[in-house]
Amino acid sequence: MKSSKPVHLALVALWFTIATPVHAQAIDSTRLISDLRVLSADSMEGRRIGTSGNARARAFIENAINRIGLRPLKASLSAPFVAKSRAGADLHGVNIVSLLRGRMHPDRYIVISAHYDHLGVRNGVTYNGADDNASGSAAVLALAQWYKYHPPENSMLFVWFDGEESGLVGAKAFVEQPPVPIEKIIANVNLDMVGRNAKGELYASGASPYPVMKPLLDSLAASTRVKLILGHDTGSGQNNWIQQSDQGPFHLKKIPFVYFGVEDHPDYHKPTDKFERIEPGFYFRCVQTINEFVRHLDLALDRVVPVRVAGLQNKD
Ligand SMILES: [Zn+2]
Repeated sequence: MKSSKPVHLALVALWFTIATPVHAQAIDSTRLISDLRVLSADSMEGRRIGTSGNARARAFIENAINRIGLRPLKASLSAPFVAKSRAGADLHGVNIVSLLRGRMHPDRYIVISAHYDHLGVRNGVTYNGADDNASGSAAVLALAQWYKYHPPENSMLFVWFDGEESGLVGAKAFVEQPPVPIEKIIANVNLDMVGRNAKGELYASGASPYPVMKPLLDSLAASTRVKLILGHDTGSGQNNWIQQSDQGPFHLKKIPFVYFGVEDHPDYHKPTDKFERIEPGFYFRCVQTINEFVRHLDLALDRVVPVRVAGLQNKD
């Protein structure tokens, strides 16, 4: 009989392998990479706000949301807004907002975001923006898919911002006219450039202004498969990234955030920021890491709520 036990265990393991669908176990890496490839294709014309290429990228993301089975928060996934460009012209942008209701706290929201716009076509040259930020946009789709099959405790808003490259105008419009009462938005997790790094390093910013995030990030850094480094969230100047992507407007509303992204690389805001230069292994590990963070944040949101409440009471 001694020899039957390993056989029995092997059969149980086989049964789990067959009975558990792939989507219930992990981020879908194949879909992740193929979504990034589509969003950074020449046909998207660099996704600049207000262009047909930008609208094509939006249609692709909305189709994916519908396939995943997430609902819009309002009547439509598209949330149009008008903003001023840096030169004072009207910019017509469209954020994409989808909802996954939480099981335990449906009236508390975590916003998971990435900007889907990029620089467009300049002098006939297409700026594909594969890392900036097709990588974050495809990653948020992958997270939405994962949470659809692993329902969260708190409600999650999966949001793709427009007009980040034009002065964070999509995120500003979102927090100025929030689709849910702003005091119910407890945290923001923003992804911008998570697809490549020569040193295998991913930064997490936000623990300095919001120390409540630090234990979550510290334990993640100790266990995860990328070099996760906390920082770029203090001081003045270019090394403080807080106002350099869409987490900035959330921070100004005192919403605790964590921003995930890499150091600028030589292809940053160049036509060479292409799909071919994405590092699929690193990218996949980043998305797994961010997924792990969001999972722990969701379970630990009770700890973040008092920070949010204190931010609402402190008006300066
Ligand atoms: Zn960006």
